Amino acid sequence: MTNYSSCTSCGQTVLKGAMRCSQCGRLQKTPEEQAALLKKIQEPKKFSINIVKLIKILVMFGAAWIIYANYSNLIQEYIDRLFSN
Ligand SMILES: [Zn+2]
Repeated sequence: MTNYSSCTSCGQTVLKGAMRCSQCGRLQKTPEEQAALLKKIQEPKKFSINIVKLIKILVMFGAAWIIYANYSNLIQEYIDRLFSN
């Protein structure tokens, strides 16, 4: 997979995904492709995925904390019983 392609007009090496050739300025993408690219850039999808991940992590930490609290109570009870006998 290469990150470069050739200009459709002058053959200059241009970055893949570039809108214009740096040599002749010719558009490297059709208006449809450009619109799709802009839409992709502007989509706030990544942000919402991160929020969902963050909530999942918080829930996992909450569950882990509850389990830890319950176990420490059991351990404490066991220790108390050992010392009372
Ligand atoms: Zn060119």
